[in-house]
Amino acid sequence: MTTAPRTLTAPLDERGFALVLHGGAGGRVEELSLEVKADYDAGLAAAHRAGEEVLAAGGAALDAVCATVAALEDDPLFNAGRGAALTASGRAELDASVMTGDGAAGAVAASRWARNPVQAARAVMERTDHVLLVAPAAKLVRSWGLETVDPEHFVTEARLAQLRRVLAARQEAPRHGTVGAVAIDAEGRIAAATSTGGMVGQADGRVGDTPIIGAGTFARDGVIGVSCTGEGEAFLRGAVAHDVTARIAYAGQEPLAAIEATIAAELTARGASGGLIAAGPTGVVVAHNSPAMFAAYREGERLVTLT
Ligand code: ASP
Repeated sequence: MTTAPRTLTAPLDERGFALVLHGGAGGRVEELSLEVKADYDAGLAAAHRAGEEVLAAGGAALDAVCATVAALEDDPLFNAGRGAALTASGRAELDASVMTGDGAAGAVAASRWARNPVQAARAVMERTDHVLLVAPAAKLVRSWGLETVDPEHFVTEARLAQLRRVLAARQEAPRHGTVGAVAIDAEGRIAAATSTGGMVGQADGRVGDTPIIGAGTFARDGVIGVSCTGEGEAFLRGAVAHDVTARIAYAGQEPLAAIEATIAAELTARGASGGLIAAGPTGVVVAHNSPAMFAAYREGERLVTLT
């Protein structure tokens, strides 16, 4: 379901950096009980803090987005890492990607062993000659110095119950929960990261936009970094994260205009719903045409959380 596009912006922190995160695009906020909403708000705030602390200490945008996304992966409320949406056969097949604005990128698809898929994506970027690895083996993940877990670690009772409801067609596949973060650090370096379990009840082996550089994630220093969420097939067809970047870099559009134009052309016009977050030299943007989107960013003293 799509609605009139909504965009929110904030300038860079007075300390010269910014971090924006999302917790997925989906249905209306009213669907959440107050109690659950408070839990989501707390999860978003904690994850924002994890990344912002890195930036405040003079750390790199890459470290900040990885810290934020790992915190959300560890929170079972979100559709990434533990508590991820399950495939039709009840498996957690996790996709994640990371990109830095100097052109480095790494991703994993259908990951089953790495406790934090975003760290595995980063390892692909930093420790291999490749950009995307499908289903990296536990041994390989451990050789990168990363923690592995039994694939059952990711499967929660809540997600199994949700899968049963969706497969019995008693519930439309719910959305929300894919996570991502984009940051620009005090030195102007941009990084973006995204992580998901995909769509509830998706075919085993289905890979969405999240681990595809240029679709779900993209970053270019001096231009913008983007992390997407929503109906992945539309983001793949429209190369959405790169489309936003190209509009700014080649057509000279302002970030907000570029984002609105991409959402209109690649999502709304095609009947697809979703959203994206972005950060660049002028600040951060949260934009979506889905009824709601979970996100967090700072506006001066105030941490804004959207649920
Ligand atoms: N874009 C993700 C996918 O298609 C899902 C989401 O963001 O909700 O796998």
